[in-house]
Amino acid sequence: SSPLPARSRVVVIGAGQAGLSAAWFLRRAGLAPGEGYVVLDHNDAPGGAWQHRWPSLTLSTVNRVHDLPGMALADAVDDTGGRVRAADAVPRYFAAYESRFDLPVHRPVGVRLVRYADGRGGPPDFVVETDAGEVRAHGIINATGTWERPFRPYYPGRDDFSGEQLHTADYRTPEAFAGRHVVVVGGGISAVQLLVEIAAVTTTTWVTRREPVWTEEEFTPERGRAAVALVEERVRQGLPPGSVVSVTGLPLTEPMRQARRAGILHRRPMFERIVPDGVQWSDGTLQRAEVILWCTGFRTALDHLAPLRLRGPGGGIVLDGAIPTRVAGHRRLHLLGYGPSASTIGANRGGRVAVRELLATLGIH
Ligand code: FAD
Repeated sequence: SSPLPARSRVVVIGAGQAGLSAAWFLRRAGLAPGEGYVVLDHNDAPGGAWQHRWPSLTLSTVNRVHDLPGMALADAVDDTGGRVRAADAVPRYFAAYESRFDLPVHRPVGVRLVRYADGRGGPPDFVVETDAGEVRAHGIINATGTWERPFRPYYPGRDDFSGEQLHTADYRTPEAFAGRHVVVVGGGISAVQLLVEIAAVTTTTWVTRREPVWTEEEFTPERGRAAVALVEERVRQGLPPGSVVSVTGLPLTEPMRQARRAGILHRRPMFERIVPDGVQWSDGTLQRAEVILWCTGFRTALDHLAPLRLRGPGGGIVLDGAIPTRVAGHRRLHLLGYGPSASTIGANRGGRVAVRELLATLGIH
C-alpha cells in the first residue's frame, strides 16, 4: 500500500467489521483519506479475522454477519444455498467494500504501541508506532478484535501432555483428529459446533466449567438487546465485559438436538489436571486422550495500548458515550469490538457513534 502519512487526524487500528464501519462514517463526515483518516491493519489481505476462520464455517452456520453501512454482503457474494465458506465470503465482501469506498487501508501494518506525544499546551497528540513507521493522530479508533489473543486457561500438568493441544483459532478440519480421542473444553457456541463436527469422525469428551444452559427460545431482537444491555452495564462500570453465551445461553438448533439425542453433548465437569496420556478428575477418574481442543475463547487484543494505562481497578476499561465506546478519561480514544460493540451489528452501530462523538470532541463537526 502507499506510504503511511506522518500525521492523520484520526487513525483507525484494525480493518475488520468494526474498523471498516468506522472508516465509512469518517468518509461520510468528509474527512480526506490520508491526512483526515487512515486505517492500519496487520493482515496481508482484507477480511479481518474472518479470513482465518475454519473451512467448515459457512454463511449459514455463523450466527449472522450483518451488512456494513452502505453496501450489502449480497452485492459482493452470491450465497444461494448457504454453502459459501465464511473465510472466503467475508474477505471478498470486505475487499469489494474497501475498494468501492476507496478506504485508505494500509496493510500489512502492525501497530506496536500507542502513546501520548509530549504535549505543549492543549491536548497531546497520539503517536502510533507501527512496523512501517510512526503516525501522529488527534484521535484513535481502536478496532483490533480478539482473534490474535486466544485465551487458554491454566491447568496443572499442561506442559506434560504427550498429545496435541490446540485452540479454536488453530482448528481447521475434523479429519485431522481421526483415530484419536479428543477432549473439547468450553461451553460456548464454538465448542459445541466443533464438538459435533469432530464427533462425526472420532470419539470425544466434552468438559465445561458450568452446566451448559440450553435455550429453546428463538434469538429475537429483544433478547439480543437485553443481552447487550447487560454487557453495556458491565463496561460502563469498568468490569470485564464477559461472554455473550453467559447471558443468552446456547441455542438448541436442530443439529444440536440431534447431537444431544446421539449422546454427543453429554457434558462432564472440568477435569482437575492434565496427565501425559489424558485428563484426570479430582476423584481420580482418568480419560485417555490424544488431543485437547481448548474452545475457551478470546480476549481483546489491546496490548499495544498498554502505555496509555487504560485498565481500572475493576479489571476492565471504563467506557462511556451513547453506546459505550469512548474511554473514560481519554476522550479522543474509542474502543470498538469491546463489550457491547463486539458483534457485527454492534460494530456497525459502535462505528457510527464513535465517529460522531470523536469528531465532536475534535471540534470537526
Ligand atoms: P476482527 O475481524 O478481528 O478485525 C480486527 C483486525 O485488526 C484484524 O484484521 C487484525 O489483523 C487487526 N489487528 C489486530 N491487532 C492489530 C495491531 N496491533 N495492529 C494492526 N492491526 C491489528 N459476530 C457476529 O455478529 N456474527 C457471527 O456470526 C459471528 N461469528 C463468529 C464466529 C467466530 C468463530 C468468532 C471467533 C467470532 C464470531 N463473531 C460473530 C464475533 C465477530 O468476530 C465479531 O463481531 C466481528 O467480526 C469482529 O470484528 P472486529 O472488526 O472487531 O475484529
